[in-house]
Amino acid sequence: MHEYSVVDALISAVLPRLTEHPGRVKTLVLKKGELRILSDRALGNAFEILSHGTRLAGAQLVVEVVPTVVACPACGYRGAAGRLGEADDHFSIPVLACPECTAPVDVVAGRELYVDHVTLSDEPLTDA
Ligand SMILES: [Zn+2]
Repeated sequence: MHEYSVVDALISAVLPRLTEHPGRVKTLVLKKGELRILSDRALGNAFEILSHGTRLAGAQLVVEVVPTVVACPACGYRGAAGRLGEADDHFSIPVLACPECTAPVDVVAGRELYVDHVTLSDEPLTDA
């Protein structure tokens, strides 16, 4: 499962940076571009399993979706991608063609995947 290797890499990146911050980790906020084909549920499951026994154990993984932004080299349009499906459809799919002139566009945002921030609790660690 792709989500496991992704979460494994994220945890490995975050753990060394926690050493100077005592306290319980409450949430790990992940920014996920909507063009990333990763299941939030699978990410959550992977996080729960892979964080076991680390400082991140018991923390909540929060996935925030970054909407797609495109730039059109042909007409200069820059903004939200056009979408396939109803505008209010939760499952509508971004289209990588210019909504103004239909030329192929460059993706400005929507492919990122990174830990945005971590929130820490002031509560002392009790489950030592
Ligand atoms: Zn255009």
